[in-house]
Amino acid sequence: MTTTRFAPSPTGYLHIGNLRTALFNFLIARQAGGEFILRIDDTDPERSKPEYVDGIKRDLEWLGLHWDRVEHQSARFERYAEVADQLRHKGLFYECFETPLELDLKRKKQLNMGKPPVYDRSALALSDAEREALSIERAGHWRFMLDQSRIEWTDGILGGISIDAASVSDPVLIRGDGQVLYTLASICDDTDMGVTHVVRGSDHVTNTATQIQMIRAIGGTVPSFSHHSLLTGPKGEGLSKRLGSLALRDMRDAGIQPMALLSYLARLGSSDPIELRGVMEEIISGFNLTKFGSAPTKFDEADLIPITAKYLKIIS
Ligand code: GLU
Repeated sequence: MTTTRFAPSPTGYLHIGNLRTALFNFLIARQAGGEFILRIDDTDPERSKPEYVDGIKRDLEWLGLHWDRVEHQSARFERYAEVADQLRHKGLFYECFETPLELDLKRKKQLNMGKPPVYDRSALALSDAEREALSIERAGHWRFMLDQSRIEWTDGILGGISIDAASVSDPVLIRGDGQVLYTLASICDDTDMGVTHVVRGSDHVTNTATQIQMIRAIGGTVPSFSHHSLLTGPKGEGLSKRLGSLALRDMRDAGIQPMALLSYLARLGSSDPIELRGVMEEIISGFNLTKFGSAPTKFDEADLIPITAKYLKIIS
């Protein structure tokens, strides 16, 4: 069965960039008669807030992006510990003791020498006595040991991707304070929940490369991965700083209509024209992920006003 998930961290309200990811995953599941999971990525106890979980659900409900079930990562820590042990037994998980400052200095030194700032695995060279001494002094963090070969996949939007794992640092999966990081939680969940298709922003391409190796290491089936381009402002400027002001709840308050917003986002950045649809079924049947391009996609919130006006005229 086709299974997708939308996996927001409840550290803020949903914005237009999140909606693009949510919508694509929703449409793929619905088109295939599959399952759409809302996964709350709340492994960070300090930044995750219940009011944001409520806000995320409210926004998705407003838009009619109904999920089949909700999963909370914070309810699955035991499972993540089990998988961490599995990786330890396989010799693919190792403890490191560098402080953030030490890591930063190492990176700067590598960059000065014109080298890529990749973690040098010096923790693997520690003797037992050195490791013991360090572990009394400070809490260790845990890294996954990448197989330093090329990682390849056919991306649903970007096409053939090949990343040299030797150019990527072994990812930290558990922090010194014991906090399980998103990457470990995500590969466990995608595997356990039978996720077949993952669509997310192109800022996750390197994560995907490392996650493919980790999913294989725990015996999971690698889903089909697609990375959509990131949205920019109308002049091509980065939106990251402005995303907070492009919250869906503000658009709702401003009177933007769900069908107008969804019709627009289901086509923006694709080779198909933007067409106003009256009902969700038409958005679902007209969606085609392969028509999306890899170039950054310009988003102008002003475009939502005429399309909303058109929708209101049709339904009146
Ligand atoms: N919580 C992650 C994020 O919001 C999810 C990424 C993913 O889809 O795996 O970036």
